[in-house]
Parts: sequence; C-alpha cells; structure tokens
Amino acid sequence: MTTSETTRVATMDKIAALAKRRGFVFPGSDIYGGLANTWDYGPLGVELKRNVKDVWWRTFVHGRRDIVGIDAGILMHPRVWEASGHVESFNDPLVDCRTCKSRFRADHLIEERLGQHAEGKSPAEMSRIIAEAGLKCTVCGNATLTDARQFNMMFRTVIGPVEETGTEVYLRPETAQAMFVQFKNILATGRVKVPFGIAQIGKAFRNEITPGNFIFRLLEFEQMEIEYFVKPDEAAESFETWVAAMRDWLGSIGVKDEFVRVREHDADELSHYSSRTIDYEYLFPGSMGWRELYGLANRSDYDLRQHQEHSGEDLQYFDQAENRKYLPYVIEPTFGVDRTCLILLLDAYDEEETVDVNGKPDTRVVLRLHPRVAPYKAAVLPLLRKPELAEPAQRLFEALSGVPGALVEYDETGNIGKRYRRQDEIGTPFCFTVDFESLEDQSVTVRHRDDMSQERLAMADVPGWLLERIA
Ligand code: ATP
Repeated sequence: MTTSETTRVATMDKIAALAKRRGFVFPGSDIYGGLANTWDYGPLGVELKRNVKDVWWRTFVHGRRDIVGIDAGILMHPRVWEASGHVESFNDPLVDCRTCKSRFRADHLIEERLGQHAEGKSPAEMSRIIAEAGLKCTVCGNATLTDARQFNMMFRTVIGPVEETGTEVYLRPETAQAMFVQFKNILATGRVKVPFGIAQIGKAFRNEITPGNFIFRLLEFEQMEIEYFVKPDEAAESFETWVAAMRDWLGSIGVKDEFVRVREHDADELSHYSSRTIDYEYLFPGSMGWRELYGLANRSDYDLRQHQEHSGEDLQYFDQAENRKYLPYVIEPTFGVDRTCLILLLDAYDEEETVDVNGKPDTRVVLRLHPRVAPYKAAVLPLLRKPELAEPAQRLFEALSGVPGALVEYDETGNIGKRYRRQDEIGTPFCFTVDFESLEDQSVTVRHRDDMSQERLAMADVPGWLLERIA
C-alpha cells in the first residue's frame, strides 16, 4: 500500500504519541510538567537525528570537493548581531488580547483568519489589516486585540559573575553568521577557491511565542547550513543549482515528492539581507497545511560587507584568475534538522488492516523509513528464548555489529509476531530470525518490513546482504 494525500493516515497527534511510546521524542522536562516548545530526543530519536546529520554531512561536505565544514560556538561577540542586522530586525510582530492576555503572532493571525500572506509587513500595516477586518481574539472571542508591536526573538544571557557589569550576549539565532565571521581564516587556511562553500551543523535558539506543533517550532533547534560563495555575476545560476540539490537531498532520504513544493518569496516578504528567497514547503497534516521546511536565499554580499564595515577587516577575496579583489555573493541553503526528522516520521507512518496471530482483525503500524535514516538497520530475533537458538543468534548479532553504519537490535522477549510489530513500528527495515532449521542448515529467515515477505538466507551471507542494502 502506498500513502497518498487522500489516504494519508499520519496525523501530528499519532506521530507525537508514537514518538513518546517508542522513545523517539519525549516532552522536555516531562516529570516537571514539561516546558512549552522544548522536546528531548530519546534512544531512537537520537539515532534518527544522527543519521540525518551524517547523511547530510556526507552528501554536502565529504561528497564534494568545494565545501568545507566548521563547528563554531553558540556564543559570539555581540557586535556580530549588530552587523548582521539581527539586533535591529530579527523581530516577530506580536499582538496581545487585553481581555484574556493571550499572545499571538500578528502575521500568523492574519494568515490563518484572512488567508492573506502577511510575513514581512510592517506592524502598522498589520495593525490596520487586523482592525479593518475586525479580527477577534481566537481564545476568548473579544475584539480587544492590541496593535502589533515588534519583539526581538534572540535569547539574551550574561557573561561574567555580576549581572550589572557583565557583557550581554545572545544565543545564536542561526548558524550562518559564524561562516561569515570565519571567512577570512578559512580563506587563509582552507585552500579554497570561489566558488566554494562553508557548512555547519549546530544548535540555534529563538524565543518563539507561537504554539510549536510538536517539534515543528522549537525554542532550541538544529540547523544544517551552507554558505556558498560565488562570483557576483554567477549567483543567479548557482541559486538554480541549489534548488535542484535540495530536492535531490529530500529524495535521497526517502521524502515523497507529492508533499513538497517550492514557494517563491514576495518582494515585501524578503528578509533584510536577501535579494531572492524560496522556501521548500511541506504539506503537514490537518490544519497546519503547507509550512516552511527549508529555505534557500541569495544573500548577495550583504553579510561580508556588513562584517567588513563593522570589524574593519578586509574580507575581499582575491581572484587569481581575474587578478582582482571582490566580495563574493552568497547562496544559502538552510535545512532544519528537527523539521527533517518530523517529516520523515510523517512521511513514513502507515497503518495496514491485517489479522493477528489468532486470526483477529488488527492494525499494523509501520514506519516506512528509508534504510539510510532508520534508527536500527536490522534486528536479530531468535524464534524462542532457548540457549540453543541464542548462541547462533548472538553470533549473527556480533557479525552484524561489524557492518559499517549498521546499528542492529537483539530482541528475544515475547512472541515473534509481537517482536515483528515492534520493529515495524520503529522503522527497522529487516529482521533476521534464527529458528530450529537454522541449527541444521546454517540459514536464517529475512523478514522485510514493508511487505512482510520472507526469504531464507545463508547466515554467512547476511552481513554482506545487509551492507548492500544500507550503504
Ligand atoms: P518560520 O517562518 O517557520 O518561523 P523562518 O523563516 O524563521 O521559519 P529561517 O530563519 O529561514 O526560518 O530558518 C531556517 C530553517 O531553520 C527553517 O527552514 C526551519 O527548517 C528551521 N527553523 C527555523 N526556526 C525553527 C524553530 N523555531 N524550530 C525548529 N526549526 C526551525
């Protein structure tokens, strides 16, 4: 069975429930009642997330000769954020309800209530739209909304033991700036030539006030970003190449095309640094609808120019072939790690009507994760909990643990049907079952997650067989 929009069974609630039940994602600070918009990745979630980041790094850094990586600090000099424009412009427009004190994003309220795109409009403009349409508080229903005002989304903290005399710094709201700030050092040491890119994976922090929708919108999240430096007159062409590269990436981790689209930003929606931006959007289930998954922006030479002015350092690139200096333009593909994990779960989730071991109607929940990103690549299951089966099963498990990139689970508890179902639900593509026949013919049953088909395989061939399917 394939999932299409009309038969799609995944909902955010089902995904969040499965994530908690199976140890992908837990509510943050759960035993203290949770902390809004914070979530923790559990034993399976951490593997999924690591796989996403590993595949990404292999694709864009190890797999290419023109991109190098960095791993910069979360805390940076406060002047970085003045130069980047974040102190001035990294704001969300808020409205409050005077009656019930609820707080909303003005642009989201307009979008949801009037179906009108409002991101990037001024607070005055949004206040006018809200007043003219007579929009009411969505919580208490009163027409008592304040005017929209700007709220800076950067988290602040203080370096130094005494708050009054300490230096106020920000937790970075994006990973991008370090790539500009370290541009000169990378030019000096990295043996790079334009066009080239700098990549980073790391945490970013934003004081978001709107509801999170599970791990869609977090206070603390991870980004995978590339700043790709090009000759100014080659920026438009490079942009197109990145549109395709981002789509290829989604395909490589198994995301279905039908729920992904590209949306071009309107002129009044563009960020302060961008001359062209597109969003890769994903069709989330239910009322969420199409939402931003990734962004791709042409940042021109805005950032290097700003940092050059604010720091007083010459950040120009010397082009040997052309014997001239210039500030490169920057194409920036940004991938949210958490949103990637979320859509992988949504895309993979499926339910099948079937019968259980006693012949009773039953629903099989299966995560059809691509083997590249699945937390466990395989499970080794002795048919029964017996020493004579445990011994060869354990040997197979050890052999498989040596397969590069293969995290394998060993499970001998409960009946075999239940164990298969558990592996289906956590997205394990293959199960190897050791039974009494195995003792005679040194072979095992391979059971495929997606169609539950089974075949026999010589035990000695299993590691190579698995490697071929996950590499
Ligand atoms: P949104 O409009 O959803 O707030 P944005 O336009 O502010 O997103 P960017 O600044 O373009 O997002 O950030 C780049 C990417 O980082 C996004 O495409 C998304 O994948 C991820 N991202 C941004 N904010 C969050 C967040 N609060 N929680 C999780 N991921 C986020």
